[in-house]
Amino acid sequence: MANNEELFKKITSHAKEYGFIFPSSEIYDGMAAVYDYGQWGVELKNNIRNYWWKSMTQWHENIVGIDSAIFMHPTIWKASGHIDAFNDPLIDNKDSKKRYRADVLIEDHISKIEDKINKEIEKAAKRFGDSFDKAQFVATNQRVAEYTAKAQEIQTKYASLMQNNDLAGIKKLIEDLEIVCPVSGTRNWTDVRQFNLMFSTKVGSVTDDADTIYLRPETAQGIFVNYLNVQKTGRMKIPFGIAQTGKAFRNEIVARQFIFRMREFEQMEMQFFVRPGEELKWFEYWKEERMHWHLSLGISPDKYRFHDHEKLAHYANAATDIEFEFPFGFKELEGIHSRTDFDLKRHQEFSGKKLQYFDPELNESYVPYVIETSIGLDRMFLAIFSNAYTEESLDDGSSRVVLRLPRMLAPVKAAVLPLVKKDGMPERAREIMEDLKYDFNLIYEEKDAIGKRYRRQDAIGTPFCITIDSQTMADNTVTIRERDNMQQERISAEKLRSYLSENINLKKYRK
Ligand code: ATP
Repeated sequence: MANNEELFKKITSHAKEYGFIFPSSEIYDGMAAVYDYGQWGVELKNNIRNYWWKSMTQWHENIVGIDSAIFMHPTIWKASGHIDAFNDPLIDNKDSKKRYRADVLIEDHISKIEDKINKEIEKAAKRFGDSFDKAQFVATNQRVAEYTAKAQEIQTKYASLMQNNDLAGIKKLIEDLEIVCPVSGTRNWTDVRQFNLMFSTKVGSVTDDADTIYLRPETAQGIFVNYLNVQKTGRMKIPFGIAQTGKAFRNEIVARQFIFRMREFEQMEMQFFVRPGEELKWFEYWKEERMHWHLSLGISPDKYRFHDHEKLAHYANAATDIEFEFPFGFKELEGIHSRTDFDLKRHQEFSGKKLQYFDPELNESYVPYVIETSIGLDRMFLAIFSNAYTEESLDDGSSRVVLRLPRMLAPVKAAVLPLVKKDGMPERAREIMEDLKYDFNLIYEEKDAIGKRYRRQDAIGTPFCITIDSQTMADNTVTIRERDNMQQERISAEKLRSYLSENINLKKYRK
C-alpha cells in the first residue's frame, strides 16, 4: 500500500509537471476538488470523450447524441428524486474535526478484509509454486472462509441499514466494527446525518425562493426530458439510445484522491430506451458491451471487475459498477443501471405531459424502460493515465518515465525532430509537419539533444518520433521511433501518412 501511495503521488506530480492537470485557481492556493486540464490534458480528455462518443453514436445505428443545458427547470430535480434523496450519509470525527462519508468508512473496512484474503492467497501461491490451485485454496482454507464470511456479514448488514435509511444503525455499525478516524486514530464520532449534494443558485430576483435552480448533478435528466423530442424528430424506433457528455456538479463531502472525486466533473452517459419486460436482457447486453469498450483500449483485463449492487437506488431494478484498479485500489469507474420507467413516469406526472411511445409492432403505447450507462470522463482519464505511467530502467543504466497511453488517445501522435538545427533539416522537418498536420496532432521540436527530446515525448505519451537527419536530405527517408519499445526504423518520408494511419487506427481497437 505504501508503495502505491508513493506511486500515486508520482502520478499526480507528473500530471502537473507535464501540463496535463493543474489545481484550479492555483495562484490563489487552489480550490479543493476542482482541477483544470492543461495543454496535454485537454487533448487526452478530448480524445477519450471522442472515443466514447464515436463508440456510442457512430458504431451503433440506433444511438444519437444531444447536448442539453446545465440549467434546467427546478421541478426536474423534484421529479427525479434528487431534491429529496440525493444525499450522502456524513459523519464527523470530533477529535480531528474531519468529515467522512459513513458508507465509505464501512466500504473501506470491507476492502481491508478483502486485502487480507488476497494476502493469504498470495502467500499460499508463493508456498505452493506451480502446483497452486487458487479456486481450491479459496474453497477450502479456513482463514479465507472466516474472512469471507465476515466481509459478507458486514456487507449484508450495511446494505439493509442503507436500504432502510437507518442512520443510527449505521453509526452503531461503525462503532461495532471499531473503525477509527485515519487522522486522529480515535472512535469519537458524531451522529450520522444526511447531506444533499446538489449546488443551488438563483436566477433573476435574488429574494424570490421560487427562483432557486440547481447545477445538474448528472447529465441523465437532460436526456429524459428530451426523449420525446428526439424520438419524434429522429423517428427513432425502440430500442434506441440517446448519448450525452457534459459537466455535472456535486458538493462532495469527501473530495480527495485527485480527479477521482471532484465537485465539478464531466460525465458521459447514455440512456437506452427499451420495451418493458426486456430491460434485463438489455442490461446484460450493455454490461458486456461496456466492458468490451474498456478492454478494447488494450488495458489488462485484471484491472477491471464488475461489482453488482446490493443496495439498489430508488429508481433501479438491477445495477452494477465497472470497477478499475486505481493506485489506491479497485473503485467505481462506470455505473450501469436498469432504471425501469421511473424517470419518464415521474416526469410525466410532474410535467403533466404524456411521455409514451407507440410501438407499431405491438400496436400499443407504453412508457419505455431504460438502461443507463454512466461513466465519469475524469475518472476514465485517471484510469488511463495512472495505468499508462511507467518508470523504466534501461539497458544502458539510465531510466525513463514513459506514458504508455493507447496510441489513438495520446495527446500528440508524432513529434517531428530535425537532428540538428542546420543543413536544411529544420526546413525539411517543417515541410513534413505542413504535409501531415491536417491529419494528425504533431509537435515540432528542435531544441536539445535528440535523446532528451525523445524523453520529453515519452513523458507525454507521444507514440512516434520522426527524425530528419543527413540521410533524409540525401534520400528522403526518415527514422521513426516507437515509444514503447524504442525501436527505430527507416522509412520513406512519403510513407509517413500511411504508416501513422495504420498504426494509430481506431479499428485496431475494436473486436
Ligand atoms: P461514487 O459512489 O463514487 O460517489 P456514484 O455511484 O455516486 O459514484 P454515479 O451517480 O453512478 O456515481 O455517477 C456515474 C459516474 O460518474 C461514476 O461512475 C463516476 O465515474 C462519475 N462520478 C460520479 N461522481 C463523481 C465525482 N464527484 N467526480 C468525478 N467523477 C464522478
